[in-house]
Amino acid sequence: MLNESVSHIKGVGEKTAKNLEAMNIKTVEDLLFYYPSGYNITEIKPLAECQHDETVTLVGTILYPPTVSFFGRKKSRLICTVEVEQAAVKIVMFNRPFAKNHLLPNKVFTFTGKWDAHRLQLTVQKYEEGAPANSSATIDPKYPLKGDMKPFRLKKMIEAAVSDYSHYIQEILPSTYLQAYKLPSRQAAVRTMHQPESGYALKHARRRFTYEELLIFQIRMQLMRKEIRESTTGAAHQFNQTHLDDFVQSFPFTLTNAQQRVTEQILMDMKSPYRMNRLLQGDVGSGKTAVAAIALYATVLAGKQGALMVPTEILAEQHFLSLKELFADRISIALLTGSTKGKKREELLQAIYDQEIDLVIGTHALIQDDVYFRQLGLIVIDEQHRFGVNQRRTLREKGLFPDVLFMTATPIPRTLAITTFGDMDVSILNEMPAGRKPVETHWINEKLMPRLLGFMKEHIENGEQVYVICPLIEESETLDMQNAVHIYEQMKLYFEPDFRVGLMHGRLTAEEKDEIMQQYVENDIQVLVSTTVIEVGVNVPNATIMAIYNAERFGLSQLHQLRGRVGRGDVQSYCMLIADPKGKVGKERMRIMTETTDGFELSERDLELRGAGDFFGKKQSGVPEFKVADIIEDYRALETARQDAVKIVEENSLDKDPIYEPLKAYLEENNPLEEKLD
Ligand code: ADP
Ligand code: MG
Repeated sequence: MLNESVSHIKGVGEKTAKNLEAMNIKTVEDLLFYYPSGYNITEIKPLAECQHDETVTLVGTILYPPTVSFFGRKKSRLICTVEVEQAAVKIVMFNRPFAKNHLLPNKVFTFTGKWDAHRLQLTVQKYEEGAPANSSATIDPKYPLKGDMKPFRLKKMIEAAVSDYSHYIQEILPSTYLQAYKLPSRQAAVRTMHQPESGYALKHARRRFTYEELLIFQIRMQLMRKEIRESTTGAAHQFNQTHLDDFVQSFPFTLTNAQQRVTEQILMDMKSPYRMNRLLQGDVGSGKTAVAAIALYATVLAGKQGALMVPTEILAEQHFLSLKELFADRISIALLTGSTKGKKREELLQAIYDQEIDLVIGTHALIQDDVYFRQLGLIVIDEQHRFGVNQRRTLREKGLFPDVLFMTATPIPRTLAITTFGDMDVSILNEMPAGRKPVETHWINEKLMPRLLGFMKEHIENGEQVYVICPLIEESETLDMQNAVHIYEQMKLYFEPDFRVGLMHGRLTAEEKDEIMQQYVENDIQVLVSTTVIEVGVNVPNATIMAIYNAERFGLSQLHQLRGRVGRGDVQSYCMLIADPKGKVGKERMRIMTETTDGFELSERDLELRGAGDFFGKKQSGVPEFKVADIIEDYRALETARQDAVKIVEENSLDKDPIYEPLKAYLEENNPLEEKLD
């Protein structure tokens, strides 16, 4: 019945059906579940609570016949005195002279318009005879429209669908859930969405669909997680624990408790016959590389190969160098990036195929079509969010089924983590290596530049180094560079010849970047002017000051990443935000930066300020869209739904327990997840 064509609805002809189809409404069911995008709520408040300049609704009795005055061509003003709560209120209406014939003394009308509290005057947009039946509020749905569709026509059709078809709507949630969470039935909730009797009823109908949507989404995530875990068996890595312990002993530091805990979680996954699909979150500087190195070594000890994939060449090179040092002669390591070309590349690919190479470090080049591993046991993907959802899938589709460890330094707020990465296990490094001093952060005006320069000079004289970050102008790489060059010239004027200034931007070749970075690492350059290309991962413990121009143009998470480039040694470090934000939100963001160095707190606050879609950047957000649920506001429901979904999938309830049958059928009939994730 519900899957009948919309043309069965009264008043829906061929043309209307076409128009509805353009709105993605084909069946009666589609129409019933076409929710309003919002509601016009008219609430009659006591006069004393009506705010100046706001749209309000008043009920009043006409005291005297209205007067109409004409002006200009065809323009008129109607004025009428009305009694509201024993006060005389002046009603003003423009260009509706005929209203005079309706507004007769002693009759009661409901007026909606803009309220002038000083003059006790209402400029009317809408009026209706009589007082509303429901004395407190009327709630009028607003629907998103397309093409020629008129709001009142769509409303009529939906009304018809609700009255003729809504009783066919079946419940899909087990009644135990409805009782436990006090949720209205699916049928009642649909009716309420379209024809709310009260704000209270509407709230509960929305609550029901919020939970339903989130539960369904989370169940799909959990099913996917289960499928990934169980898709390959026999991946259990057998490695020699003593050799692994020796390796860890050789580190120039002891692991933090968090590193130890996380390492154990990862090694457990690797030993198990399930495929690892784990996300490692740890703030900048929390020591993720060491954890990755241990996991990679375990895989090599088990006779397999490892791969470490990072987003930029510089980072690949840095990891290559530092891991070579860390591993010493234990294993053979190679670097594979976009600049590995020609014969060198061919030889390397052959060596990878022959398993002469144990560990390959590289960029995207690592997962290109012609790269074949003999036995890829583990792939570690650093700064995961930059790879996006699609690359995650590429890997699976290549037929490679290694254990996968994603690492990210962008702490992902929990709500996003369990929606976007709900199919993964999550480990968190929530402890910094001992002895780190939090980076002192200040927000300053450009006028203070001379003082900032003096401050930098003092520290450079002490042997320390400085980063100067130029804003990223997204539309134009050329402008970006000009800007960077300009700042570079200024810095040279100030610091040279006593000190050296370097410039780094996106237009340089990988070799040029590498050379400049190398000079900075060796302290041949004291001031490095750079666009955000240095954003991720690069480690120069001697750098203690970071100045960021136009800091208001960066996202909080990005600023935090940048700031993580300093404060890596044991000397006090500073981050100077040179910013002149215009709006309230911009100022708030700068303030947050100066108040906290905790990446997790920051990301939560960033999310609140920006909304989910913007958090990762629109394109690769992977954050699903819900019809009713809002993963930020409804995070409690999200947690509940997640827990319920985990239980349902773990206990296999969908297959075993008849009360879940309608839900199971629904999940099978409506499977949009694949499309949604792309
Ligand atoms: P991130 O998590 O940002 O990738 P890194 O792995 O680059 O952090 O580590 C940052 C720095 O901290 C490196 O110089 C690393 O050698 C050092 N480090 C890592 N773990 C520890 C530890 N347990 N104690 C002291 N220093 C550590
Ligand atoms: Mg790192």
